[in-house]
Amino acid sequence: MAIGISATRTDSSTTVRDLLATGQRSYSFEFFAPKTEKGERSLWNALRRIEAVSPTFVSVTYGAGGSSREGTVRNTERIATETTLTPVAHLTAVNHSRSELRNVIGQYADAGIRNVLAIRGDPPGDPMGEWVRHPEGLTYASELVELVKESGDFCVGVAAFPEMHPRSDDWDTDVRHFVNKCRAGADYAITQMFFRVEDYLRLRDSVAAAGCETPIIPEIIPVTNVKQIETFAQLSNATIPDELADRLRSVEDDPAAVRSVGIEYATEMCATLMAEDVPGLHFITLNNSTATLEIHQNLGLHNRP
Ligand code: FAD
Repeated sequence: MAIGISATRTDSSTTVRDLLATGQRSYSFEFFAPKTEKGERSLWNALRRIEAVSPTFVSVTYGAGGSSREGTVRNTERIATETTLTPVAHLTAVNHSRSELRNVIGQYADAGIRNVLAIRGDPPGDPMGEWVRHPEGLTYASELVELVKESGDFCVGVAAFPEMHPRSDDWDTDVRHFVNKCRAGADYAITQMFFRVEDYLRLRDSVAAAGCETPIIPEIIPVTNVKQIETFAQLSNATIPDELADRLRSVEDDPAAVRSVGIEYATEMCATLMAEDVPGLHFITLNNSTATLEIHQNLGLHNRP
């Protein structure tokens, strides 16, 4: 499948906010900070392959603690200084005081990073365990948005949940909290992974109905093996539709066919979302660029101007 569309690239000083304000669609890729040297080599191989297709930005998730957090900061700084890519640095409030958060934000600023994704985070170990605020820290992502904004001229993104945040009791309350987070100063949002376009559209329409115009970028991940069906559903609370599960299981003895089905399904989702005029597409790579680059190519984006 090849779907031609026009889009424009950015240079490293552009913020996601400036780009979205022009009405141009953003194409971005997400990575995580690896814990080993081998993992770091895979990350950088994947980053270099992604760099070749000039994405709008790449983002690096913020680790649960210690060395993994240092890896996030170090790799994001390297992206800013050693590549042509525009990095978006994730930051979470988990186990951080306000002054520690200011310190990390300062390190990002020193490396010339202007884009931060402000996320509350989950309790380490058990994502659904009780949230325990650091005694000098924050309770909700909206406070982190305010902290990053008051720390400098940053463009700040936040998380959005097409199937409602798993801790929320009802849809309307979750939407109200999301809108308040946007009003705290968020410039855009990126969603949790999802597999039914209608879930994204419902969120977009509910947020718009609440009078909030913050652009919401859908996050895309291809399912490339059958085991991932359960893993993704557990990790993200995302519903895997029967149609996708049936298509994958019908070829489950043939790994190459499973992968093709996952990529085809994700490509179809992206095409539908683009027809719905989404502000961008954010691809989760799991530090392996091959599948997401195939989707990018299927959409006719490799050779965009
Ligand atoms: P919040 O916006 O604070 O919301 C958390 C819960 O509190 C929701 O139920 C919300 O409705 C509720 N709430 C918000 N405000 C209020 C209020 N005033 N009163 C009462 N309730 C309220 N995790 C990582 O560890 N590292 C990452 O790098 C990372 N990147 C992510 C990127 C994306 C795009 C997404 C979607 C998620 C990411 N996560 C990451 C996971 C994230 O940490 C969890 O999903 C977390 O549970 C929610 O974070 P949040 O920023 O949405 O929190």
